[in-house]
Formats: sequence, C-alpha cells, structure tokens
Amino acid sequence: MNSSARYFCDHAWVGGASAEADVLISTEGDRIAAVGLGADRPADAVHLRGLTLPGFANAHSHAFHRALRGRTQAGRGTFWTWREEMYRVADALTPENYYQLARATYAEMALAGVTAVGEFHYVHHRPGGAPYADANAMGRALMAAAADAGVRITLIDACYLESAPGRPVEGAQVRFADKSAEAWAQRLGELAGAASVLGARLGAAVHSVRAVPPKSAEVVAALSEAHGLPLHFHLSEQVGENEMAQAAYGLSPTELLRTAGALGPGSTAVHATHLSAHDEVLLAGSGTGTCMCPTTEQDLGDGVGPARRLALAGSPICLGSDSHALLDPFMEMRSLEYDERLISGARGHWAAHELLAAATSSGHAAIGWPEAGHLSVGAIADLVTIDLSSPGLAARADDHLLELAALSACAADVAFVVSSGRLVVAEGHHVLVDDLATVLRSSISAVTMP
Ligand SMILES: [Zn+2]
Repeated sequence: MNSSARYFCDHAWVGGASAEADVLISTEGDRIAAVGLGADRPADAVHLRGLTLPGFANAHSHAFHRALRGRTQAGRGTFWTWREEMYRVADALTPENYYQLARATYAEMALAGVTAVGEFHYVHHRPGGAPYADANAMGRALMAAAADAGVRITLIDACYLESAPGRPVEGAQVRFADKSAEAWAQRLGELAGAASVLGARLGAAVHSVRAVPPKSAEVVAALSEAHGLPLHFHLSEQVGENEMAQAAYGLSPTELLRTAGALGPGSTAVHATHLSAHDEVLLAGSGTGTCMCPTTEQDLGDGVGPARRLALAGSPICLGSDSHALLDPFMEMRSLEYDERLISGARGHWAAHELLAAATSSGHAAIGWPEAGHLSVGAIADLVTIDLSSPGLAARADDHLLELAALSACAADVAFVVSSGRLVVAEGHHVLVDDLATVLRSSISAVTMP
C-alpha cells in the first residue's frame, strides 16, 4: 500500500477542538495528498470505521526496558534499586538479541498507534566496554528493528562518560561509555550513512548531567546545533540527581545545561520532574521542549513535574513511554491530566485536543519529524483508527469524540494503523510480525535469567 490510496474516515481529527465527520484522505506514496471534509464515500476507498487520528510519536524509549515488565514489580525499592535490575538486562544484550527484542517492542508500539519512536540509545559497546567491530552495531540493530516493525525511528544516540561527577563508569555502565565526547561525536558521524539507508533519522543526547560533565555536554550541544539534530537529555528525574549536580558544580542540572548551550527550541528535556522556579524559567523561556513519561514516572515513584506550567510558559510538551512499564499512548495522555488533578485538586488542565497534540504533532517535532503528526496535505501519511464499537467506548453518537479518545480509550482500541503510507496494523493485528506475544516472550527470555 505504498503507491496511492484513499481512506474514508467516519470521523477524523484534522486539528482544532473537535473531530470532523466523513473525511476522505488521499495518500500518494508516504504523503497525504488531499483531505476532504463532509465527503461521500467512494466505492474504492478503504472504510475506516471509528475515529481516525494522526500517528502517535513515542518521544522517549529505551527498547530493552521492555524486558523488565512484571519482573520489577515484585518486592519494594526505589528508582535506584530498579536501575540495578535494568543494568542486568543491559549486560545481556547483543546486537542480535537486541534486534529481536526491539523489533517486537516497536511492533507492540505500532499496535498502540505509534508511528515514530525516539529511541534514546546508550548501550553502545560490548560487555567490558570494548567496541564492536562496527562501533555502531547496536544502533544499527535498533534502526533495522524499527524498519522491520513499520515504525519510523530517530536514533537519539546518547553520550555517557561517567558514573557520577568525577567517578568512572562501573559495572554495566562500561557498555554505555565512549572514551570522550569527541569519540562519541566520531561514532555518531559514522552512523549517518546507515541511518539514511534505513530511513531513520539521528538525534543527539546528553544522557544526564550525572553522566556527562559540563565541558562534554558543550561538545554534544554544539554538534547537535551544527547538524540540526534534536538534542535530548534526562533532566532532574530524581532529587538525588539534583543533589549530585549541586555538590559537584554548585548549579542545578537545568542551569548546567543552559551554561553548556544545550537549551533551545531544538532541545527536549525528558522528565523535568524536580525543578526550581528558576529552572522553569530557563527551560520555557528558551523554548526547550519537555517530554513527560507519566506511566514510567508513576512506576518509578519519580514525582510529578510541572508540565502544565511549563507548557503555558512556552515549552512544547510531548510524551514517551520510556521504560515501557506500559505501552499505551492513551495512558500517557490521560496521566498527564490525571497527575495534575491529583496534585491540584482541580479538573480540566488539558483540553483533549491538547493531549492529542502532545502525543502526535509535538512528539513528532521533538524527535525531528515536524512533517508528521497531523492529518493535512503534505504531511507524512500516518493514520491511526480507534474502533469506537467496543462497550468501553459506547457513548452518545458523535458526542465528545476527542475527549473519549484522550481520556477513555486504550491501546487495545487501535484497529488500524498506516505508517508512512504503509499498512502496519489491520483489525488490531500487526501485519509484519505474526504472533507478537510469542515473539515478545522469546525475545525477553533471551535477555533475562529465570
Ligand atoms: Zn529515559
């Protein structure tokens, strides 16, 4: 389905605060060629029953964390004890088994309506830290995995240099570390050819101010600016990270990144949970985006970041599933609103169309696909149709469809997905990966111990 096609949508969100009825969308190759409202249904058009949305962008993913689902829910602990479990899986990855696990994880994303992923990638080298013969074997495996799952990828390659300020990497972290920011930049440069062959795009990341000293963060920021790459960084997810930065440098993580030249409209702060008022001004005032990962932040007990205040002050908000404790963009949207309700005691912080924009157009822009995430002429042809016929979505006909989608639908309601003009999900089944649950189980078993 990569040439031309026509889709007749019973309902579609083409922007604004409500859905339209009887929308005819024509595609040519991977682009939307025409959008007609109030159309008749042509006999040759694919009939999309339900509500059709633009594709979702999962703006923050670590694909291998998918193997942790369930395993990390036994017993008690904190972010830091969870991290030990995560490091055990990181140590078991090879380019071959990571390809399998990532392809299955991205296929699960596609089933949930995700058409593009920002993969924040940091497991670069062999166990023990020596590079693979191809220093980008892992990154290449991730790009191939996304292509084979029908999901576009931005490989956001993370610079990771130390365990804590002034302390060398240890344990699993030796796989994450390049020798210097310059060595990281050289490796990233070698990835450009493979990315274009696989239809992927590249991004740059400062893993965190814990793992990258300020002078090295400057190198990453300068390279991303010189090449127009999205720049991402984990920011103040934990109070402990803020304390480390203050003790080592006398600045907050946000202040450090500002000094390194890492803030601006091409940058995205991931989490932004524990911010001072000054941090908020620096982030929003510079137009730096914010990627909230609400289900991961809930899972890890991180806290609730000031998403609404940041958005009102000028920071575009997008969403990521990060650790994949769940893979459900609807849960991420709903949690953005519900987390605010729990801490404020008030309802209605985000309009449904704002939640949908966070999951679609803002997310795509944050990972370097600004031409995706909206149903308009010239946009990348991503269509995600929610089946409205389930009991859980039964409501008065046509009433408040966007509210129903953003606050009551779930991943299992996604019936049909076109990504870059290509059919990826039909009738709730992935058309490129058969028996996905079995594929997930075996690829998880390959990287975990009983
Ligand atoms: Zn993360």
